[in-house]
Amino acid sequence: MSDHYVKVKVQLEQMKSFEQDEEEKRGEDAEEPVLVSSPPASLSPESSSITISGTDASRASMTCKHRGKSRMKLGKDDKKSSGKHMSEVSLHGSAVSAHTEKNLNRLHIKGTGKILQGKSETNGNYVTIHHESSKSTQDTRREEGFKTRRRRPVTVDTSKAKTSLEALKISIKQLKWKEFPLGRRAACDIYWHGVSFHDNENIVSGQVNKFPGMVEMLRKINLSRAMRTMQEVFPEEYDFYPRSWILPEEYQQFSSQIRMVKDNDATVNTTFIVKPDGGSQGDGIYLIRDPSDLKLMTGSQAKQAVVQEYIQKPLLIDKLKFDIRLYVLIKSLEPLEIYIAKEGLTRFCTEPYQEPSQKNLSHVFMHLTNYSLNVHSGNFVHSDSQNTGSKRTLSSVLYRLAAKGVDIKRVWSDIIALVIKTVIAVAPELKVYYQADIPPGKPGPTCFQILGFDILLMKNLKPVLLEVNSNPSMRIEHEQEVAPGVFEYVPSPVDEEVKVGVIRDTLRLMDPSHRKPTIPQLRAGGGEHGEEIPMEAESQERSRDEIGALPSLCLKQVYPKYTKQFSFLRLVERIAALFIRFLGVKGNMRLGPTAFRTFIRTCKLSTSNFTMASVDILYIDITRRWSGATPESREAGMGLQAFVEAFFYLAGRRFKSLARREQVLSLLELCEAQLGPQSAVEDRRSVSCSRALPRAVKTQTMCLTNPQLGSPAPLRRAASQEYRLHQRLKPRTLRANVEN
Ligand code: ADP
Repeated sequence: MSDHYVKVKVQLEQMKSFEQDEEEKRGEDAEEPVLVSSPPASLSPESSSITISGTDASRASMTCKHRGKSRMKLGKDDKKSSGKHMSEVSLHGSAVSAHTEKNLNRLHIKGTGKILQGKSETNGNYVTIHHESSKSTQDTRREEGFKTRRRRPVTVDTSKAKTSLEALKISIKQLKWKEFPLGRRAACDIYWHGVSFHDNENIVSGQVNKFPGMVEMLRKINLSRAMRTMQEVFPEEYDFYPRSWILPEEYQQFSSQIRMVKDNDATVNTTFIVKPDGGSQGDGIYLIRDPSDLKLMTGSQAKQAVVQEYIQKPLLIDKLKFDIRLYVLIKSLEPLEIYIAKEGLTRFCTEPYQEPSQKNLSHVFMHLTNYSLNVHSGNFVHSDSQNTGSKRTLSSVLYRLAAKGVDIKRVWSDIIALVIKTVIAVAPELKVYYQADIPPGKPGPTCFQILGFDILLMKNLKPVLLEVNSNPSMRIEHEQEVAPGVFEYVPSPVDEEVKVGVIRDTLRLMDPSHRKPTIPQLRAGGGEHGEEIPMEAESQERSRDEIGALPSLCLKQVYPKYTKQFSFLRLVERIAALFIRFLGVKGNMRLGPTAFRTFIRTCKLSTSNFTMASVDILYIDITRRWSGATPESREAGMGLQAFVEAFFYLAGRRFKSLARREQVLSLLELCEAQLGPQSAVEDRRSVSCSRALPRAVKTQTMCLTNPQLGSPAPLRRAASQEYRLHQRLKPRTLRANVEN
């Protein structure tokens, strides 16, 4: 498809959607009430499903859930008796209007995916009616007279979608939702951003497909730090992330550790991979075998990078190294909900693999699996088939491994564990960003996000996390030389198969008419305690899919499904909850010295051995060391990572005899016991504070704590300056993990 053609197509669609928008606005008030049947009395409520949604935020939404089993049974009956009385009918709520009569005759044959008369409407909302005949059902409907409004389709603002646009358009079309390619004056239900939460600044409702702070959090340095924190407390659980050092900060540690290993055993020849912090698509990556080969400077500036142990023995297929791209949906942070796409991609190198040697260190087509690099190798194979070529589906690779006797169930469950643990590692900081951008009580959208996990399988089948992309490429075309020197984007069936499924099913899961009432977000001490565990997603999915024309969801819920196995890892989230609680003024991301003192006092952590003066020194010491560690930490005050370090230090002092994990847990329990549940008064105060004033004014007004009171002189000076700086970090232009 030529660029020109695409542009013209987009323009036409934009014009059309604007007209529709106007029409819709004109018609919105004129929506007719329509009748929707409640399930016939002969059926138990458990075996019927009704979802009705209105036109605005307060739309009525009723869901009587099917039980998987009873539905399956009905399905079988349907098969046997299609054409007899008991047949299942799948209807889209909005279709239950003037067209009802017709629609009621649509027969969905279970198990076959076939619908006998036309297609049922599928925006994920259905009215399922078991009826003896269409006529009698209509009668029942009239008798019961259950009124609702005609549902408008879910609206999606795609104006910032960038390279996801093609896949997004196809998904919206399949769902029969409504696209606004140029944006819309009225609010949309869903906003699809190409890069970050801040792509569009003025969203006050609906759902955005990016979390604030995700780009920053998944930069290589921040991800490595978050993993390291977890490794400190749960070393065995987090051994799937290769040993990493942060440059330039940890250059000395890195070189002395490597030298020590070499001095002990001269035959050891470990290889390291160096990755620039904000890099993506293999840019600037190189392998080294000696610390002296590090390129530490760009001009006069020290390069921010991660140097990481290189996995020397990856699993090979056809003698080639490959990695897995897995799509993961964070549906919600609070409560934590994670979904994994059952299908992913595998990206193959284009030169047969050899273990690293001084000779082959620079062979990128042998060592780096990035599509963007290998596509330029003469050996890259574009293939329409999903199980050949340089990019294949994950399932085709797993089948192939299974055929060789590999226990792929085990591999898959290890991958799920890796994903859940990684999300648990980054969630604490994400919550800090979230409350700063969308403080509780302030109108704002909710967020979800698709992440791209890059995973390498080692020869012994252990999965290793390479990185997480906040903006995985959702392109469904690839550039190809169609004639000598002439390049064009041509469809890539493998990409389309996987990516359209992921986007469409993400939208289905985010369908606003399926949302449960929101749970109060991000309260201190939240997370673990009293967290609501939503109903089993799969049964929810099943009940929708069995009646619709869409394939079953390709996204599988893994959390809270596996809460029991993983919730004990959510310790740092609890530390983050304390941190957020003491931030005081909503919108902040950094703790001032007074707030830190308040934390120590409230939790009764100072003793005759650890006076408030020592507390101040600890604060200054840690914040000084962290300032300059990352671009964000140049701001004054104590960020979460520094607070966690202080917390670990305090835990170590207080519970000397315990192991690290127990130290941290004991201190947490002590603090939480001192604090008790956050008081409603405190909540109201902070909420009204954040509502009443613009953020800059708020921070200076100091609703909760006044740093000028009771702080020693040097801290007072720092405090007044700090309270000016403690405003939410301005969104920066970020280049990180963006594959577009
Ligand atoms: P980028 O964001 O630039 O793609 P990655 O961290 O994904 O950076 O690394 C690029 C490629 O390098 C990976 O796709 C993988 O093939 C290889 N790679 C990265 N880290 C390691 C590692 N620790 N061991 C072996 N190979 C690695």
